[in-house]
Parts: sequence; C-alpha cells; structure tokens
Amino acid sequence: MNFDVVIAGGSVAGLLCAREIARNGNTVLVIEEDYEIGTPEHCGGLVSLSGLEELGVIPFRKTFDHAIESAEITAPNGTSFEINSAKQKVIEISRRELDKQIAFQAQKNGAIIKVRTSFQEITDTGIRTNNEKINCKIFVDARGVSSLIHKDRTGILSSAQYEIYADWIKKGKVEVIFDQEKYPGFFAWIIPSGEGKGKVGVAGKGINVSESLEKILKEKGEYSTIRKIYAPIWIKGPIKKFVEGKTVIIGDAAGQAKPTTAGGIFTSGMGGVYAGQAISEFLKTNNKADLEQYQKKWTARFGKEFEKQLLARKILERVDNNTINKLFESITPEIIKDISEKDDFDFHTSSIIKLLGLKGSIKTAQTLIGGEIKKLLS
Ligand SMILES: Cc1cc2nc3c(=O)[nH]c(=O)nc-3n(C[C@H](O)[C@H](O)[C@H](O)COP(=O)(O)OP(=O)(O)OC[C@H]3O[C@@H](n4cnc5c(N)ncnc54)[C@H](O)[C@@H]3O)c2cc1C
Repeated sequence: MNFDVVIAGGSVAGLLCAREIARNGNTVLVIEEDYEIGTPEHCGGLVSLSGLEELGVIPFRKTFDHAIESAEITAPNGTSFEINSAKQKVIEISRRELDKQIAFQAQKNGAIIKVRTSFQEITDTGIRTNNEKINCKIFVDARGVSSLIHKDRTGILSSAQYEIYADWIKKGKVEVIFDQEKYPGFFAWIIPSGEGKGKVGVAGKGINVSESLEKILKEKGEYSTIRKIYAPIWIKGPIKKFVEGKTVIIGDAAGQAKPTTAGGIFTSGMGGVYAGQAISEFLKTNNKADLEQYQKKWTARFGKEFEKQLLARKILERVDNNTINKLFESITPEIIKDISEKDDFDFHTSSIIKLLGLKGSIKTAQTLIGGEIKKLLS
C-alpha cells in the first residue's frame, strides 16, 4: 500500500491533519489502534466556541452538550470565588461525537481511516502496523501523550476522571479545587454535562489518583459512577522539534496541550491543522522549509502564552496551601469582575496574573514567588 501520508492516532490532532492533507488532493491514511474513533473518551470536553470555529468545526447537535456559565474556584481552606464565564463562550462537548464529526470531515475530503490498526515502527520506506507494511512520504505521529511517555516521564502526571450522575452537579457550573496536599501541582475538577451529570477528575504529582477522587466524591454526597478513566497528562509544554526528518509530530504527542490545565482540544487541534497545511505545501514543492513552517506557525500563535503558562505552573508547584489561602483572601470583587469580563479561555495567563494579586497586596506570596512573577509580567 502507498500513501502520501500515514497518520498514527485518530483523534482530534490526527484527524484535523488528515482533513487538511486530503483537502489539498493528497492521499492520506489515518490508523487508530482503538476499535472506535472517539473512544475511550479521555477528556473533560471543555472548549471555546471560537477555538472550535478556528479548527473549522461547527458542533453537530449530538456533539454539543451544553454551555458553561460560571466557574467556581475553591482554596484549600474552603473559601471560594465564582467567575461569570458566559462571555467566554465555553461549551462542554462530547468528545466521542466531536472526534467522529472530524473523522467525517476528513473522510469527505478523501482521507481513509482504519481502526484497530496500530503503528509499530518506522521502516525505510514508510511504516509497519500490526497488520502490514505501508509506504509513505511523510509519517505523522499523533499518538497523544503515549508517544511522550518513552521520551520524558518528568512532564507527566497521572489523572483520573469519573463520569457520574449526582444531584449536586449543577448544569453550567465548572468547579476547580486547589489543595497542594491532596493534589500537588494540579487540582481537582467538576465539569457538568447537564443537570445532575458530569465528569469529576483529579490529577497531581505522586498521588494515588483513584483514592483522591474517591475521597472528593465521598465528601460531595451521593453519586452513581457511569464510567472511570485513568489517563496520563503532559504539563511540560511543547517538545523541541516538531519535525524530525520525514516524521512530523502533532498534538499532545508534541506537547501542545496547555501546561496549566492540560487542555488541548484547541491548541493540539491547531497543531494538526498547521501541520496538515505545511505537509500539503511540502508535497507540492519537496522543499523542507515548507515543512518547517508548521512549527513556526504553531509557535507564533501559542509559544508566548505557553511560556507564561509554564511559569504559572512553576508558581503553582512551589506554593503551599497557606500561600494559596492568602492569595484567595486578596482577590477583590473588582478582580473577579475584571476577569469575568475580559478572560480568554484559550489565552488565560492574563487572568492568572490578576488572580495572583499582582496589584501589590500580599507580601508573603510575592516574596515566595517574586522571581517567577517578574518573568510572568515581562
Ligand atoms: C482527564 C482529561 C481531561 C481533559 N479535559 C480536557 C478539556 O476539558 N478540554 C480540553 O481542551 N482538553 C482536555 N484534555 C486534553 C485533550 O483530551 C487532549 O489535549 C486531546 O485529546 C489531544 O488530542 P490528540 O489528538 O493530540 O491526542 P489524543 O486525543 O490523546 O489521541 C491519540 C490517539 O492515538 C491513538 N494511538 C495511540 N497509540 C497508537 C498507535 N501505536 N497506533 C495507532 N493509534 C495510536 C490513541 O488511541 C488515540 O486515539 C483532557 C485530558 C485528560 C486526560
């Protein structure tokens, strides 16, 4: 079998990349090791409408679950504040359906998708799967975090997320809970998918994620579990080289998920789009510089924001519960109003700067994290 491009990984980045390559008249095969596109779903499904639009996806009725109106952020001592997020136009989507919707777009453009086919190795003329050898000019690695595990384990955190039915889950309201002892370097979250149902998750350094999650659920009240997933998340930002010879690395496999939240539908998806465009150009010209355009474009769009998110992450990894509690005390109604009106879900470090109380109120935190704060502001 011969293809211009073979893509390993039939999820958001791989499928968007395939759509772009096929749209430009090239032959492209997507191989997915699972038995179904969109499963097993390992995602909270939060995404901005503007992000989806830029990815070229208008969610089908089946894909769109519901709109998020607010986010409640809770400190270790239980104090919390609520941001009105209606203006950010963030929605919760079904990843099972979103991925299928993008697969349909890719197929309509001429891409071929095969499930239950796994990438094994690169050969002299292409790749080898569990079934056969396939010749290709370009191989795209879109295998998600699993591709990074062998390269660098230090950027990986374990996460657990349960889909549950529970009366205490309120439609439209996301919850984020910080506690450095329970979820070091990360947080716990509740993402509703409607009234009384949603996803509750936790990630953190060196913790037993399923035990931590069971504890949160016990404290919250009664619930029924519908599904449990355990997945690694990558929090170390983009890898150094997105293109290695004739191999192009995209999406989570290239570290394109946000270092703050590990959210990657938009940023990893755009990796797929930019790579697909650059590969199409390269297939026309055979000029390596055209392939390199992919990394340049992605970095121009997200590089600065990701650097700042990495600094914000460094701060989170260094502060203790006491400092977080103090930071929360310093948050004024004006800061909350400002964030509610101006925050951008995809480029959110400006809100983090506001939340860190950089208007000069809290001395303890600033002494602790002063160096990083200066860099974050510059
Ligand atoms: C618990 C959790 C919650 C999240 N919540 C959100 C959220 O709310 N919003 C958001 O934007 N992002 C969220 N994310 C991140 C988001 O899911 C990822 O950024 C996004 O799915 C990355 O897409 P991708 O195509 O790069 O990789 P993936 O979605 O990881 O897809 C990789 C694909 O490659 C396949 N594969 C792996 N190995 C092989 C192989 N050898 N051969 C063939 N196929 C292979 C896998 O089966 C998989 O289908 C969350 C992640 C987790 C873990």
